[in-house]
Amino acid sequence: MTTTRFAPSPTGRLHVGNIRTALHNWMLARQAKEPERGTFILRIDDTDADRSREEYVEAIRADLTWLGLDWDREERQSARLGRYEAAFDALRAAGRIYPCYESAQELEVKRKIQLSRGLPPIYDRAALKLTDAERAAKEAEGIAPHWRFLLDHAEPIRWEDGIRGPQSFEPAQLSDPVIRRADGSWLYMMPSAVDDIDMGVTQVLRGEDHVSNTAVQIQIFTALHAAGFAAAESAAKPLPAFAHEALLVGREGKLSKRLGSLGCDAFRERGIEPEAIVALLARLGTSQPVEPIADRAALTASFDLASFGRAPAKFDEEDLERLNAAIVHQLPYEAVAARLPEGMDAAGWHAIRPNLAHVGEAAEWWRLVTGPIAPPPFAPEDREFLARAAELLTWGEDPWGTLTAALKETTGRKGRALFLPLRQALTGMDHGPDMGELLPLIGETEARARLAHAAA
Ligand code: GLU
Repeated sequence: MTTTRFAPSPTGRLHVGNIRTALHNWMLARQAKEPERGTFILRIDDTDADRSREEYVEAIRADLTWLGLDWDREERQSARLGRYEAAFDALRAAGRIYPCYESAQELEVKRKIQLSRGLPPIYDRAALKLTDAERAAKEAEGIAPHWRFLLDHAEPIRWEDGIRGPQSFEPAQLSDPVIRRADGSWLYMMPSAVDDIDMGVTQVLRGEDHVSNTAVQIQIFTALHAAGFAAAESAAKPLPAFAHEALLVGREGKLSKRLGSLGCDAFRERGIEPEAIVALLARLGTSQPVEPIADRAALTASFDLASFGRAPAKFDEEDLERLNAAIVHQLPYEAVAARLPEGMDAAGWHAIRPNLAHVGEAAEWWRLVTGPIAPPPFAPEDREFLARAAELLTWGEDPWGTLTAALKETTGRKGRALFLPLRQALTGMDHGPDMGELLPLIGETEARARLAHAAA
């Protein structure tokens, strides 16, 4: 059974980078061809009580819903503190967690000294060398410890990454991570591994900024299993499959400055369809072409981690606009009906959608049907031509085809001279929707009146 998770921290709104991670995890779960479908978990990483906000949790749910990324299960880290306590106890009993008493300033000084000597700023494990008496003295001074996970330096940490290929980390090159603060609160590293075990997560797909976290978490997973922490069924499959995708960058480099404006609200306000975002983000950074695929199931079926490249994926808002227009041209009436102007039916949508870059522009074009329109002044010979058109107009299967054929025959006009004055007289514009589709929508009486008015 495939189980994936999207694990945002509710400390802000989702941006295009998070949306991409959510989408890819959703697609992995939804493409799973198994007797039972895969599970996509929304996990709220809210152990940081100071920075987490309920309004962001709600916004995350609303954004995923708008994008059509439904989740099968929602979990919250703040509701699972007992599990983290149990994992902590198990790891501590196994000798994999140790208390540290350095202040932030002391650690900073150590770092600076290491860096000035050209050494990597790796924690020196000084706290591990403290005697019981020294620890007791610190505590007597009122210093509460923070806690680090003891990395096992015995051998390299290896995994086969679904995107990056074989990975190998030398644990001695990493600092023992702080997993718990002096006030008892949890940092990201351990709770995430505990959750992935408890929730049976089979695939962890996230940004490459998490690669070194994965190295550490693999040791946490392994240590928890060795400590008998996990239920038997998850112990049988001790590690999820990991994949790390290259980060998203803007056309001119870093995206971080613009991220605030690259969220669902902003996209929605600009008339970007969720399907356009999905089509772009599903393929960006892969060897598969970015195409305006509005069929979510087809896009999901084609999603393939093996097609991801290692180079940063370039997010370009112009690509998104182009894709949006192409998607709008395919959207069925039912998908947009609620957003269309009064009275605009399926035939109206079909006639007008090829002219739109955004669904919101439908109202402007619909005015060509409902009027009033403002035709340009016509030269005398065109007025005569239009008067003839008003006479010849008949109503049947294909009024436009019948009218233009009759006019061509009786006036000898063709091409632009035939079509442009008619279009101008009937719509007030030089370009626009297919007249064959539009004329029936304008209706016989109104069309005759417009032609006659232009001819007068
Ligand atoms: N809350 C973490 C983040 O937003 C989750 C990382 C993960 O996927 O494990 O970066």
